Amino acid sequence: MPGIWVYAEVSSDGKIEAGALENLTKARELGSEVSAVALGPGSSQAAAQAGEFGAATLFASDDSIYTDFIAQPAAFALHELVKEHQPELILFSPTYDSRDVAGRLQARTGSTLMSNATDILGPDYAQTQILGGSQIVDVTLFGPDPKLLIVRPKSFEAQPAEGGAAATVVPVEVSVPDDCKKAKRVQRHEQAAAGPKMEEAKVVISGGRGLQDPANFKLLEEMASAIPGAAVGASRAVVDAGWVPYAMQIGQTGKTVSPEVYIAVGISGATQHLVGMKSSKRIIAINKDKDAPIFQYADLGIVGDALQILPRITEAINARKG
Ligand SMILES: Cc1cc2nc3c(=O)[nH]c(=O)nc-3n(C[C@H](O)[C@H](O)[C@H](O)COP(=O)(O)OP(=O)(O)OC[C@H]3O[C@@H](n4cnc5c(N)ncnc54)[C@H](O)[C@@H]3O)c2cc1C
Repeated sequence: MPGIWVYAEVSSDGKIEAGALENLTKARELGSEVSAVALGPGSSQAAAQAGEFGAATLFASDDSIYTDFIAQPAAFALHELVKEHQPELILFSPTYDSRDVAGRLQARTGSTLMSNATDILGPDYAQTQILGGSQIVDVTLFGPDPKLLIVRPKSFEAQPAEGGAAATVVPVEVSVPDDCKKAKRVQRHEQAAAGPKMEEAKVVISGGRGLQDPANFKLLEEMASAIPGAAVGASRAVVDAGWVPYAMQIGQTGKTVSPEVYIAVGISGATQHLVGMKSSKRIIAINKDKDAPIFQYADLGIVGDALQILPRITEAINARKG
């Protein structure tokens, strides 16, 4: 059954991760037969949602081996499925676990793995951005199938298919050998988060060293709570300084976001930060230095002291809401 597969992380209550829904939408548009692969508790409950977003088949196993051990069992099982069904292309989200599985699968298949794809033009043809996002390049993927693509978040909008029936569940019955159980997950820590997930938020308001004190992050939180669907992010400088958790970091060594509006507050605009937010639809920068590099990328720039400006913007938003 050749076609395009989407590797889908699924929560224990059967919900498919946002990036996989985006990838399913794109796979469907490419016109091939689409299948999803979900491994771990909750997977077989994802059939309705997988079908809604275009998958005809869901290869699923609810075995906790796939969540108890890191990536190796999933890569092994996925390879077994690949050998049997021979898909042309597999799409992955850039979550930590999916990236890990993609890399390990590539080592098994010897096929081409491309990361940071921003568009998919065919089963062996994709696009990405280079030079800090200033140029888009077309990439032909050579080598044996399946080609493996790690797709940048928000490259596509997740859209349900009209009348998509539940995917047919094909149970994954793979016996995972002991040498794939070397890295056991001993603890799972859920970062408590109020509001939407940063990668899914429509508006991301990020703070940098220009906020001057960790306590001033509350100005960003107040602004975010005034805007429906807004989340708060950060530059690495303030994460490294221990002001906010790593989960909030945006950039090369943090998360990539692509919201409708990105608001950079007291962030200089280092390349390593820009690569994580440059594809946002609109960028607003607040910085007291009129020559800060971030202004070169901003649709709207406000030169001034963020500590003075933020409360006034929040007040104005709240006043408009009446
Ligand atoms: C390998 C590597 C990976 C990296 N990965 C990342 C990454 O993932 N994400 C990331 O962000 N960085 C990353 N960095 C670090 C990056 O190079 C920058 O050092 C960092 O982004 C700077 O953070 P910042 O803009 O908050 O701080 P600064 O560069 O110090 O900028 C602070 C800004 O605040 C402004 N400011 C000061 N006071 C005020 C005020 N009162 N009101 C308004 N503006 C004010 C200043 O004018 C300045 O522009 C990485 C670096 C390396 C080497």
